[in-house]
Amino acid sequence: GDVVRTSKNIRSERARHLSPNLSLSYKDPLKITRAERQYLYTDQGERYLDMVNNVCHVGHCHPRVVAAAAEQMPVLNTNTRYLHDNVVNYARELLSTFPDPLEVCFFVNSGSEANDLALRLSRNYTNSEDMLIVDHAYHGNLTSLIDLSPYKFNRKGGKGCPDHVKICPMPDGYRGPIKGDDPQCGSKYADMAIEQLRALEKEGRKPAAFIAESLLGCGGQIVLPQGYLAKVYDAVREAGGLCIADEVQVGFGRVGSHMWGFELQNVVPDIVTLGKPIGNGHPLGAVITTRAVADAFFNGMEYFNTFGGNPVSCAIGLEVLQVLRDERLQNNAARVGAHMMNSLKEMAGRHSLIGEVRGRGLFIGVELVRDAQSLEPATVEANRVVNLMKDRGILLSTDGPLDNVVKIKPPVCFSMESADEFLCAFDSCMGLVGEKP
Ligand code: PMP
Repeated sequence: GDVVRTSKNIRSERARHLSPNLSLSYKDPLKITRAERQYLYTDQGERYLDMVNNVCHVGHCHPRVVAAAAEQMPVLNTNTRYLHDNVVNYARELLSTFPDPLEVCFFVNSGSEANDLALRLSRNYTNSEDMLIVDHAYHGNLTSLIDLSPYKFNRKGGKGCPDHVKICPMPDGYRGPIKGDDPQCGSKYADMAIEQLRALEKEGRKPAAFIAESLLGCGGQIVLPQGYLAKVYDAVREAGGLCIADEVQVGFGRVGSHMWGFELQNVVPDIVTLGKPIGNGHPLGAVITTRAVADAFFNGMEYFNTFGGNPVSCAIGLEVLQVLRDERLQNNAARVGAHMMNSLKEMAGRHSLIGEVRGRGLFIGVELVRDAQSLEPATVEANRVVNLMKDRGILLSTDGPLDNVVKIKPPVCFSMESADEFLCAFDSCMGLVGEKP
Protein backbone atom coordinates (compact mmCIF):
# COMPACT_ATOMS: atom_id res chain seq x y z
CA GLY A 1 0.00 0.00 0.00
CA ASP A 2 0.91 3.67 0.09
CA VAL A 3 2.86 3.77 3.32
CA VAL A 4 4.26 7.22 4.09
CA ARG A 5 7.60 6.50 5.67
CA THR A 6 9.77 8.71 7.82
CA SER A 7 13.34 9.33 6.69
CA LYS A 8 14.52 6.98 9.43
CA ASN A 9 12.26 4.19 8.18
CA ILE A 10 13.50 4.61 4.63
CA ARG A 11 17.06 4.37 5.83
CA SER A 12 16.42 1.13 7.68
CA GLU A 13 14.58 -0.30 4.67
CA ARG A 14 17.43 0.74 2.40
CA ALA A 15 19.80 -1.03 4.76
CA ARG A 16 17.64 -4.15 4.60
CA HIS A 17 16.95 -4.29 0.86
CA LEU A 18 19.67 -2.36 -0.96
CA SER A 19 23.41 -2.75 -1.24
CA PRO A 20 25.41 -0.98 1.48
CA ASN A 21 27.61 0.23 -1.38
CA LEU A 22 25.09 2.99 -2.20
CA SER A 23 25.97 6.30 -0.59
CA LEU A 24 23.76 9.09 0.71
CA SER A 25 24.42 12.82 0.54
CA TYR A 26 24.64 14.66 3.88
CA LYS A 27 24.67 13.38 7.47
CA ASP A 28 20.92 14.00 7.62
CA PRO A 29 19.93 12.79 4.15
CA LEU A 30 17.17 14.64 2.42
CA LYS A 31 13.87 13.13 1.41
CA ILE A 32 13.01 14.94 -1.80
CA THR A 33 9.49 14.35 -3.05
CA ARG A 34 9.08 16.75 -5.92
CA ALA A 35 10.97 19.22 -8.06
CA GLU A 36 10.60 21.91 -10.70
CA ARG A 37 13.16 24.00 -12.56
CA GLN A 38 16.19 24.38 -10.23
CA TYR A 39 14.18 23.73 -7.08
CA LEU A 40 13.82 20.57 -5.01
CA TYR A 41 11.16 20.19 -2.32
CA THR A 42 11.33 17.85 0.67
CA ASP A 43 8.47 15.88 2.18
CA GLN A 44 8.32 18.69 4.75
CA GLY A 45 7.78 21.23 1.99
CA GLU A 46 11.20 22.85 2.39
CA ARG A 47 12.68 24.27 -0.78
CA TYR A 48 16.28 23.61 -1.87
CA LEU A 49 18.20 25.23 -4.66
CA ASP A 50 19.75 22.43 -6.73
CA MET A 51 23.29 23.28 -7.85
CA VAL A 52 24.43 19.66 -8.12
CA ASN A 53 22.18 18.15 -10.72
CA ASN A 54 23.57 18.41 -14.21
CA VAL A 55 21.13 15.72 -15.36
CA CYS A 56 17.81 17.53 -15.14
CA HIS A 57 19.43 19.93 -17.51
CA VAL A 58 16.56 22.12 -18.79
CA GLY A 59 14.91 22.05 -15.36
CA HIS A 60 13.47 19.35 -13.15
CA CYS A 61 10.29 17.79 -14.53
CA HIS A 62 10.20 20.26 -17.41
CA PRO A 63 6.54 20.25 -18.52
CA ARG A 64 7.37 19.98 -22.22
CA VAL A 65 9.69 17.02 -21.67
CA VAL A 66 7.15 15.34 -19.41
CA ALA A 67 4.45 15.90 -22.04
CA ALA A 68 6.62 14.43 -24.80
CA ALA A 69 7.01 11.26 -22.74
CA ALA A 70 3.35 11.17 -21.76
CA GLU A 71 2.33 11.52 -25.40
CA GLN A 72 4.48 8.67 -26.68
CA MET A 73 4.19 6.21 -23.78
CA PRO A 74 0.53 5.26 -24.31
CA VAL A 75 1.02 4.86 -28.07
CA LEU A 76 4.07 2.70 -28.65
CA ASN A 77 7.38 1.72 -27.19
CA THR A 78 9.50 -0.82 -28.99
CA ASN A 79 12.98 -1.31 -30.39
CA THR A 80 14.87 -0.13 -33.46
CA ARG A 81 14.11 -3.27 -35.50
CA TYR A 82 10.87 -1.57 -36.62
CA LEU A 83 10.69 1.66 -38.55
CA HIS A 84 9.79 4.71 -36.50
CA ASP A 85 9.89 8.45 -37.16
CA ASN A 86 11.16 9.39 -33.70
CA VAL A 87 14.55 7.76 -33.98
CA VAL A 88 15.39 9.38 -37.31
CA ASN A 89 13.96 12.76 -36.33
CA TYR A 90 15.98 12.75 -33.16
CA ALA A 91 19.17 11.49 -34.81
CA ARG A 92 18.93 14.23 -37.44
CA GLU A 93 18.38 16.99 -34.86
CA LEU A 94 21.09 15.77 -32.54
CA LEU A 95 23.61 15.38 -35.38
CA SER A 96 22.84 18.89 -36.64
CA THR A 97 24.58 20.21 -33.51
CA PHE A 98 27.88 18.50 -34.43
CA PRO A 99 30.56 19.57 -36.89
CA ASP A 100 31.55 17.38 -39.86
CA PRO A 101 32.54 14.60 -40.12
CA LEU A 102 30.56 13.54 -37.04
CA GLU A 103 27.49 12.20 -38.78
CA VAL A 104 26.38 8.88 -37.29
CA CYS A 105 24.76 8.20 -33.96
CA PHE A 106 24.12 5.18 -31.79
CA PHE A 107 21.53 5.42 -29.03
CA VAL A 108 22.18 3.77 -25.68
CA ASN A 109 20.86 4.11 -22.12
CA SER A 110 23.57 5.76 -20.06
CA GLY A 111 26.89 7.52 -20.14
CA SER A 112 28.58 4.26 -19.20
CA GLU A 113 27.02 2.42 -22.11
CA ALA A 114 28.07 5.25 -24.41
CA ASN A 115 31.70 5.07 -23.27
CA ASP A 116 31.75 1.29 -23.46
CA LEU A 117 30.51 1.45 -27.04
CA ALA A 118 33.09 4.16 -27.82
CA LEU A 119 35.74 1.77 -26.52
CA ARG A 120 34.43 -1.05 -28.70
CA LEU A 121 34.28 1.21 -31.76
CA SER A 122 37.88 2.33 -31.20
CA ARG A 123 39.20 -1.16 -30.66
CA ASN A 124 37.39 -2.40 -33.71
CA TYR A 125 38.62 0.45 -35.90
CA THR A 126 42.25 0.31 -34.80
CA ASN A 127 42.59 -3.38 -34.03
CA SER A 128 44.29 -2.36 -30.84
CA GLU A 129 43.35 -2.73 -27.16
CA ASP A 130 45.39 -0.01 -25.47
CA MET A 131 43.98 3.22 -24.11
CA LEU A 132 45.32 6.61 -23.09
CA ILE A 133 43.37 8.31 -20.33
CA VAL A 134 43.68 11.40 -18.15
CA ASP A 135 44.48 11.05 -14.46
CA HIS A 136 41.61 11.21 -11.94
CA ALA A 137 39.02 10.67 -14.66
CA TYR A 138 35.76 8.82 -14.24
CA HIS A 139 34.16 7.34 -17.34
CA GLY A 140 31.50 4.98 -16.00
CA ASN A 141 30.45 2.05 -13.88
CA LEU A 142 30.96 -0.85 -16.34
CA THR A 143 33.89 -3.22 -15.84
CA SER A 144 35.50 -1.88 -19.01
CA LEU A 145 35.24 1.69 -17.70
CA ILE A 146 36.43 1.14 -14.16
CA ASP A 147 39.59 0.15 -16.08
CA LEU A 148 39.63 3.65 -17.61
CA SER A 149 38.81 5.49 -14.38
CA PRO A 150 41.69 6.34 -12.02
CA TYR A 151 38.97 7.96 -9.89
CA LYS A 152 37.98 4.36 -9.13
CA PHE A 153 40.94 2.06 -9.78
CA ASN A 154 43.44 4.23 -7.90
CA ARG A 155 41.24 4.81 -4.89
CA LYS A 156 39.93 2.68 -2.03
CA GLY A 157 38.57 -0.61 -3.31
CA GLY A 158 40.39 -0.26 -6.65
CA LYS A 159 42.92 -2.65 -8.12
CA GLY A 160 45.28 -0.12 -9.73
CA CYS A 161 45.97 0.71 -13.36
CA PRO A 162 45.40 -2.17 -15.80
CA ASP A 163 48.13 -3.19 -18.26
CA HIS A 164 46.29 -1.89 -21.33
CA VAL A 165 46.00 1.65 -19.94
CA LYS A 166 48.43 4.58 -19.79
CA ILE A 167 47.60 7.56 -17.58
CA CYS A 168 48.34 11.10 -18.82
CA PRO A 169 48.82 13.69 -16.07
CA MET A 170 45.90 16.02 -15.50
CA PRO A 171 46.54 19.36 -17.24
CA ASP A 172 45.86 21.26 -14.04
CA GLY A 173 47.15 24.81 -14.42
CA TYR A 174 46.56 25.53 -10.74
CA ARG A 175 48.06 22.59 -8.86
CA GLY A 176 50.04 20.81 -11.56
CA PRO A 177 53.71 21.40 -12.43
CA ILE A 178 52.90 23.83 -15.29
CA LYS A 179 50.87 26.84 -14.27
CA GLY A 180 48.03 28.32 -16.25
CA ASP A 181 49.81 31.63 -16.81
CA ASP A 182 52.53 29.87 -18.82
CA PRO A 183 51.64 30.61 -22.46
CA GLN A 184 52.91 27.11 -23.31
CA CYS A 185 50.77 25.46 -20.62
CA GLY A 186 48.56 23.46 -23.00
CA SER A 187 51.47 22.42 -25.15
CA LYS A 188 53.59 21.31 -22.19
CA TYR A 189 50.81 19.18 -20.71
CA ALA A 190 50.19 17.74 -24.17
CA ASP A 191 53.88 16.75 -24.26
CA MET A 192 53.36 14.84 -21.01
CA ALA A 193 50.46 12.95 -22.61
CA ILE A 194 52.61 12.26 -25.67
CA GLU A 195 55.27 10.83 -23.34
CA GLN A 196 52.71 8.23 -22.30
CA LEU A 197 51.97 7.52 -25.94
CA ARG A 198 55.69 6.98 -26.58
CA ALA A 199 55.92 4.69 -23.56
CA LEU A 200 53.14 2.60 -25.07
CA GLU A 201 54.88 2.50 -28.43
CA LYS A 202 58.13 1.46 -26.77
CA GLU A 203 56.28 -1.64 -25.59
CA GLY A 204 55.45 -2.37 -29.22
CA ARG A 205 51.83 -1.30 -28.82
CA LYS A 206 49.61 1.38 -30.28
CA PRO A 207 46.60 3.19 -28.87
CA ALA A 208 43.02 2.31 -29.71
CA ALA A 209 42.07 5.73 -28.40
CA PHE A 210 42.72 8.66 -26.14
CA ILE A 211 39.66 9.47 -24.03
CA ALA A 212 39.19 12.71 -22.11
CA GLU A 213 36.39 14.84 -20.80
CA SER A 214 36.29 18.22 -22.51
CA LEU A 215 36.45 19.85 -19.07
CA LEU A 216 37.56 17.61 -16.21
CA GLY A 217 34.69 16.93 -13.82
CA CYS A 218 35.91 14.42 -11.24
CA GLY A 219 39.37 15.93 -11.75
CA GLY A 220 38.00 19.07 -10.04
CA GLN A 221 36.21 21.23 -12.64
CA ILE A 222 39.35 21.82 -14.64
CA VAL A 223 39.28 23.84 -17.85
CA LEU A 224 41.74 22.35 -20.33
CA PRO A 225 44.53 24.80 -21.23
CA GLN A 226 44.40 26.20 -24.78
CA GLY A 227 45.96 23.97 -27.37
CA TYR A 228 45.98 20.87 -25.18
CA LEU A 229 43.54 18.65 -27.04
CA ALA A 230 44.71 19.76 -30.50
CA LYS A 231 48.27 18.68 -29.82
CA VAL A 232 47.33 15.41 -28.09
CA TYR A 233 44.79 14.54 -30.81
CA ASP A 234 47.38 15.11 -33.54
CA ALA A 235 49.88 12.80 -31.87
CA VAL A 236 47.31 10.11 -31.09
CA ARG A 237 46.00 10.12 -34.65
CA GLU A 238 49.49 9.99 -36.05
CA ALA A 239 50.03 6.89 -33.93
CA GLY A 240 46.90 5.33 -35.44
CA GLY A 241 44.55 5.93 -32.51
CA LEU A 242 41.17 7.61 -32.27
CA CYS A 243 40.17 10.54 -30.05
CA ILE A 244 37.13 10.30 -27.81
CA ALA A 245 35.51 13.29 -26.11
CA ASP A 246 33.45 12.35 -23.06
CA GLU A 247 30.75 15.03 -22.94
CA VAL A 248 28.60 13.17 -20.42
CA GLN A 249 28.93 15.93 -17.81
CA VAL A 250 29.72 19.01 -19.81
CA GLY A 251 27.76 18.75 -23.05
CA PHE A 252 24.49 20.30 -24.26
CA GLY A 253 25.35 23.97 -23.92
CA ARG A 254 26.48 23.90 -20.30
CA VAL A 255 29.74 25.68 -21.14
CA GLY A 256 27.72 28.61 -22.45
CA SER A 257 29.81 29.74 -25.41
CA HIS A 258 29.36 26.44 -27.25
CA MET A 259 27.05 23.47 -27.44
CA TRP A 260 29.94 21.05 -26.88
CA GLY A 261 32.92 21.34 -24.57
CA PHE A 262 35.39 20.11 -27.19
CA GLU A 263 34.58 23.19 -29.28
CA LEU A 264 36.42 25.26 -26.65
CA GLN A 265 39.57 23.48 -27.77
CA ASN A 266 39.04 23.87 -31.52
CA VAL A 267 39.15 20.15 -32.18
CA VAL A 268 36.80 17.61 -33.72
CA PRO A 269 36.91 14.24 -31.95
CA ASP A 270 36.41 10.93 -33.79
CA ILE A 271 33.88 9.84 -31.20
CA VAL A 272 31.77 11.87 -28.76
CA THR A 273 29.88 10.28 -25.87
CA LEU A 274 26.74 11.75 -24.37
CA GLY A 275 24.69 10.99 -21.28
CA LYS A 276 23.28 12.65 -18.17
CA PRO A 277 21.61 15.85 -19.54
CA ILE A 278 20.61 14.28 -22.86
CA GLY A 279 17.29 12.95 -21.52
CA ASN A 280 16.73 15.47 -18.71
CA GLY A 281 16.67 12.56 -16.23
CA HIS A 282 15.28 9.87 -18.51
CA PRO A 283 17.90 7.11 -18.95
CA LEU A 284 19.41 7.92 -22.32
CA GLY A 285 22.87 8.13 -23.84
CA ALA A 286 24.40 8.42 -27.28
CA VAL A 287 27.60 7.91 -29.21
CA ILE A 288 28.34 10.23 -32.11
CA THR A 289 30.99 9.25 -34.61
CA THR A 290 32.23 9.41 -38.17
CA ARG A 291 30.94 7.38 -41.11
CA ALA A 292 34.32 5.61 -41.33
CA VAL A 293 34.26 4.45 -37.70
CA ALA A 294 30.61 3.40 -37.90
CA ASP A 295 31.11 1.53 -41.17
CA ALA A 296 34.10 -0.37 -39.83
CA PHE A 297 31.91 -1.53 -36.94
CA PHE A 298 29.48 -3.02 -39.47
CA ASN A 299 31.64 -6.12 -39.48
CA GLY A 300 29.06 -8.88 -39.43
CA MET A 301 28.26 -8.71 -35.73
CA GLU A 302 24.98 -6.91 -35.11
CA TYR A 303 24.91 -4.14 -32.53
CA PHE A 304 21.62 -4.56 -30.74
CA ASN A 305 20.49 -2.52 -27.77
CA THR A 306 17.03 -3.44 -26.46
CA PHE A 307 16.14 0.01 -25.16
CA GLY A 308 18.53 2.23 -27.12
CA GLY A 309 16.69 4.43 -29.61
CA ASN A 310 13.19 3.47 -28.52
CA PRO A 311 10.35 5.84 -29.54
CA VAL A 312 9.76 7.11 -25.99
CA SER A 313 13.41 7.92 -25.30
CA CYS A 314 13.77 9.58 -28.69
CA ALA A 315 10.67 11.71 -28.13
CA ILE A 316 12.19 12.86 -24.85
CA GLY A 317 15.65 13.50 -26.28
CA LEU A 318 14.21 15.51 -29.15
CA GLU A 319 12.11 17.63 -26.81
CA VAL A 320 15.14 18.36 -24.62
CA LEU A 321 16.96 19.73 -27.68
CA GLN A 322 13.99 21.84 -28.66
CA VAL A 323 13.50 23.25 -25.15
CA LEU A 324 17.20 24.04 -24.97
CA ARG A 325 16.85 26.02 -28.19
CA ASP A 326 13.44 27.64 -27.54
CA GLU A 327 14.40 28.82 -24.06
CA ARG A 328 17.90 29.86 -25.15
CA LEU A 329 19.40 27.95 -22.26
CA GLN A 330 22.94 27.78 -23.62
CA ASN A 331 22.86 31.55 -23.67
CA ASN A 332 21.47 31.53 -20.13
CA ALA A 333 24.35 29.30 -19.02
CA ALA A 334 26.80 31.81 -20.52
CA ARG A 335 25.14 34.83 -18.92
CA VAL A 336 24.41 33.44 -15.45
CA GLY A 337 27.70 31.52 -15.38
CA ALA A 338 29.71 34.64 -16.20
CA HIS A 339 27.94 36.55 -13.45
CA MET A 340 28.73 33.82 -10.92
CA MET A 341 32.36 33.51 -12.04
CA ASN A 342 32.91 37.28 -11.81
CA SER A 343 31.31 37.52 -8.38
CA LEU A 344 33.18 34.47 -7.07
CA LYS A 345 36.49 35.90 -8.30
CA GLU A 346 35.71 39.15 -6.58
CA MET A 347 34.81 37.16 -3.45
CA ALA A 348 38.20 35.42 -3.62
CA GLY A 349 39.75 38.77 -2.67
CA ARG A 350 37.82 38.68 0.60
CA HIS A 351 38.19 35.01 1.54
CA SER A 352 41.75 33.72 1.68
CA LEU A 353 40.46 30.14 1.53
CA ILE A 354 39.45 30.61 -2.09
CA GLY A 355 42.50 29.52 -4.07
CA GLU A 356 41.02 29.51 -7.55
CA VAL A 357 37.70 30.06 -9.29
CA ARG A 358 37.51 28.34 -12.66
CA GLY A 359 35.04 27.04 -15.18
CA ARG A 360 32.97 27.89 -18.23
CA GLY A 361 29.29 28.71 -18.29
CA LEU A 362 27.45 26.79 -15.59
CA PHE A 363 30.32 24.39 -14.96
CA ILE A 364 32.31 26.05 -12.19
CA GLY A 365 34.77 24.96 -9.52
CA VAL A 366 35.94 26.85 -6.46
CA GLU A 367 39.16 25.31 -5.14
CA LEU A 368 39.73 25.93 -1.44
CA VAL A 369 43.25 26.03 0.01
CA ARG A 370 44.61 26.80 3.47
CA ASP A 371 47.68 28.46 2.06
CA ALA A 372 48.01 30.22 -1.27
CA GLN A 373 51.71 29.34 -1.46
CA SER A 374 51.78 25.65 -0.49
CA LEU A 375 48.24 25.06 -1.85
CA GLU A 376 47.51 22.88 1.18
CA PRO A 377 44.01 21.64 0.39
CA ALA A 378 41.17 22.94 2.58
CA THR A 379 39.24 19.68 2.34
CA VAL A 380 37.54 19.86 5.73
CA GLU A 381 36.58 23.48 5.06
CA ALA A 382 35.17 22.63 1.62
CA ASN A 383 32.96 19.99 3.16
CA ARG A 384 31.97 22.30 5.98
CA VAL A 385 30.92 25.04 3.59
CA VAL A 386 28.81 22.57 1.59
CA ASN A 387 27.03 21.53 4.78
CA LEU A 388 26.48 25.13 5.88
CA MET A 389 25.05 25.88 2.46
CA LYS A 390 22.65 22.97 2.85
CA ASP A 391 21.39 24.56 6.05
CA ARG A 392 20.69 27.66 3.94
CA GLY A 393 18.74 25.60 1.44
CA ILE A 394 21.40 25.31 -1.25
CA LEU A 395 22.77 22.00 -2.47
CA LEU A 396 26.37 21.74 -3.69
CA SER A 397 29.02 19.04 -3.75
CA THR A 398 32.79 18.71 -3.52
CA ASP A 399 35.14 16.89 -5.86
CA GLY A 400 38.68 16.75 -7.19
CA PRO A 401 41.51 14.40 -6.20
CA LEU A 402 41.82 16.18 -2.84
CA ASP A 403 38.09 16.70 -2.43
CA ASN A 404 38.62 20.41 -1.86
CA VAL A 405 36.84 21.80 -4.92
CA VAL A 406 33.31 23.10 -4.48
CA LYS A 407 31.49 21.91 -7.56
CA ILE A 408 28.84 24.04 -9.24
CA LYS A 409 26.75 22.54 -12.04
CA PRO A 410 23.07 23.46 -11.69
CA PRO A 411 20.39 22.87 -14.31
CA VAL A 412 21.05 25.33 -17.16
CA CYS A 413 17.75 27.12 -16.52
CA PHE A 414 19.42 28.52 -13.38
CA SER A 415 18.28 32.13 -13.02
CA MET A 416 20.16 35.33 -12.13
CA GLU A 417 18.00 35.53 -9.03
CA SER A 418 19.11 32.05 -7.95
CA ALA A 419 22.71 32.97 -8.73
CA ASP A 420 22.44 35.97 -6.41
CA GLU A 421 20.81 33.85 -3.71
CA PHE A 422 23.74 31.44 -4.00
CA LEU A 423 26.41 34.18 -4.04
CA CYS A 424 25.02 35.87 -0.96
CA ALA A 425 24.84 32.61 1.02
CA PHE A 426 28.25 31.44 -0.19
CA ASP A 427 29.89 34.70 0.83
CA SER A 428 28.42 34.37 4.29
CA CYS A 429 29.27 30.66 4.69
CA MET A 430 32.84 31.22 3.47
CA GLY A 431 33.10 33.91 6.14
CA LEU A 432 32.01 31.41 8.79
CA VAL A 433 34.36 28.65 7.60
CA GLY A 434 37.27 31.04 7.21
CA GLU A 435 37.10 32.21 10.83
CA LYS A 436 39.56 30.59 13.20
CA PRO A 437 37.69 28.01 15.26
N1 PMP B 1 31.44 9.92 -17.97
C1 PMP B 1 31.46 10.94 -17.10
C2 PMP B 1 32.37 12.09 -17.34
C3 PMP B 1 30.61 10.93 -16.00
O1 PMP B 1 30.62 11.95 -15.13
C4 PMP B 1 29.74 9.83 -15.80
C5 PMP B 1 28.78 9.77 -14.63
N2 PMP B 1 29.17 10.44 -13.48
C6 PMP B 1 29.76 8.78 -16.72
C7 PMP B 1 30.61 8.88 -17.80
C8 PMP B 1 28.89 7.58 -16.58
O2 PMP B 1 27.57 7.89 -16.80
P1 PMP B 1 26.37 7.01 -16.19
O3 PMP B 1 26.44 7.11 -14.71
O4 PMP B 1 25.15 7.59 -16.81
O5 PMP B 1 26.58 5.60 -16.67
